[in-house]
Amino acid sequence: MVKELGIGLAIGILIVLAIQGFNILPLIFLGFLGFFMWQMLTQGGVAGATTDNDSSEKKIPLIQFDEIGGQESAKKELMEALDFVKDVKRIKHMGIRAIKGILLSGPPGTGKTLLAKAAARYTDSIFKAASGSEFIEMYAGLGAKRVRNLFKDARQTARKYNKKSAIIFIDEIDVLGSKRGRVTSHLEYDQTLNQLLIEMDGLSVDDEIQILVMAATNRIDILDPALLRPGRFDRIVQVDLPAKDGRLSILKIHTANKPLAEDVNLEQIAKETFSFSGAHLENLANEAAILALRENSSQIYQKHFMEAIDKVIMGERLDRRPTKEELIRIAIHETGHALISEILQPGSVSTITITSRGKALGYVRHNPEDDLYLQTKDYLEEQISIAIAGAIAEEILLENRSTGATNDFEKAIQLVKTMVISGMTDLGVVGENTVPKNLLHKEMTKIFKNIETKVKELIKKNQEIILKIAEELVESERFSGNELRELLKRERCA
Ligand code: ATP
Repeated sequence: MVKELGIGLAIGILIVLAIQGFNILPLIFLGFLGFFMWQMLTQGGVAGATTDNDSSEKKIPLIQFDEIGGQESAKKELMEALDFVKDVKRIKHMGIRAIKGILLSGPPGTGKTLLAKAAARYTDSIFKAASGSEFIEMYAGLGAKRVRNLFKDARQTARKYNKKSAIIFIDEIDVLGSKRGRVTSHLEYDQTLNQLLIEMDGLSVDDEIQILVMAATNRIDILDPALLRPGRFDRIVQVDLPAKDGRLSILKIHTANKPLAEDVNLEQIAKETFSFSGAHLENLANEAAILALRENSSQIYQKHFMEAIDKVIMGERLDRRPTKEELIRIAIHETGHALISEILQPGSVSTITITSRGKALGYVRHNPEDDLYLQTKDYLEEQISIAIAGAIAEEILLENRSTGATNDFEKAIQLVKTMVISGMTDLGVVGENTVPKNLLHKEMTKIFKNIETKVKELIKKNQEIILKIAEELVESERFSGNELRELLKRERCA
């Protein structure tokens, strides 16, 4: 209303001046310039800043900690810090300074945003969320203005809803909080970060509204050290990929609303999804339901989950159909991997398939007995053997290798490098960058040659079995680990 009155008054004055013979063009130009600047500065609110309590804005439903699967130590550490926010009186009495910032650090999709939402509910706080990228603007000063507005807005909303505290959650803080001076193109990043530091420095236990800044990043290494200084983000909570038990509880949460068939074994699925994040597991449960629906099944079976795992790891099935000769080559290649895997690590194959997905023409998925965080030299050598077995099977059975093994070799080279830098080779303890290249090359070639000789022997000994299983694989496209083990047993006894 005030805006419209102002514009009307300005136009009126301009008309009067024009009638009186003044040159009003410079005034019009200045007016436009002023209006443009004003528009820019009043756009200070952060687009994504939303609250649970404000019905005029998009609502973010808050959740409880027990709706987050796994992450037990992150939850515990976080709740301990949040108890400080809840009990300001005791904190004040003990002369403890307020916790101003908590940084959640970890890979994507592990539940950092969920934890921040649960923190808001746990502390009965207003929740304001924004992403680091929303603060970065072309115009100097606008990002800083947005930071100021975000804090102001959090206080106002808390007051409006009679809350004593507010949580400001900044996702991808690395975008605005990377080391100052890193982005040389303009100073906007630095100004925005400085403003955030100023706002955080101004927070105190005596404030009428307690503000806690929570931020998430998966690049803690590039954050400006000033952000991590005590008194700013002085609590860092590590949110890692879930271990097997964590994966099981996340699966339970995301399948609770789904019609599961009796054969579904969530324990087994948790076992086969090493390195999956919470977001991957949610996606897996969803994909399994979609696969069941496509088959017009009213329930979701274990086979749907198994196929969904392949889809989440490798991507969507491709319509492309290789030629008959290619198919037999792919089948021999994959059977080579699977056979060596079963010989060296019995029971390790979970699935073998020649269905093309993503970039893979076929693949063998392994079934880790337990999550492995340490790898022994023997284990690494076995993994290298399995990785190169596909190419060797092609060479021995088809007398020719193909380009299908490029990824396998990359994997094998990485594994050999791991052996080198872990001091497992005849080079002793060396650094990857300090060891002379020719020595490194010689050692890596020696390791490869040794392993290759052993794998060739095993493949030669099992040539007929590989061929038979490969032929059956071309017919069926896919075997589960158990089906493969049955076939191997049958062929070995035959
Ligand atoms: P990013 O770093 O990419 O922002 P994030 O760590 O913030 O990711 P969230 O946004 O919290 O991850 O999680 C994404 C989705 O993954 C959630 O909406 C939820 O469906 C699922 N999810 C992730 N972790 C968990 C978990 N621990 N328990 C239950 N669901 C989870």
